[in-house]
Amino acid sequence: MEDLITLPGVARKTANIVLSNAFGKIEGIAVDTHVTRLSLRLGLTNNTNPVKIEKDLMALVPKSEWGIVTLLLIHHGRRVCSSRKPLCGECVLDGLCPSAFTFG
Ligand code: SF4
Repeated sequence: MEDLITLPGVARKTANIVLSNAFGKIEGIAVDTHVTRLSLRLGLTNNTNPVKIEKDLMALVPKSEWGIVTLLLIHHGRRVCSSRKPLCGECVLDGLCPSAFTFG
């Protein structure tokens, strides 16, 4: 991670993805647009800065789950909780999500 983020254009998101996919190393949680949106809607963070969001998520989620939680948030953001039209009525998190009322 320390070496990768010294490369031009490489921040923690890209470094996390490279480390996970190329080396099987989970050093953090890759915060892309889906992870950012889902983290805010689910009340997992109050931050909009990806580095701060990652810190908040890493504090909430056990390290052993960092890899899968990244994939689950991205997948959920693509399939159910889209930016423009979240499908709260079909969402398994409907009863837990503080934003469900807003969009439902
Ligand atoms: S309940 Fe709605 S806002 Fe919350 S995660 Fe599901 S789709 Fe997104």
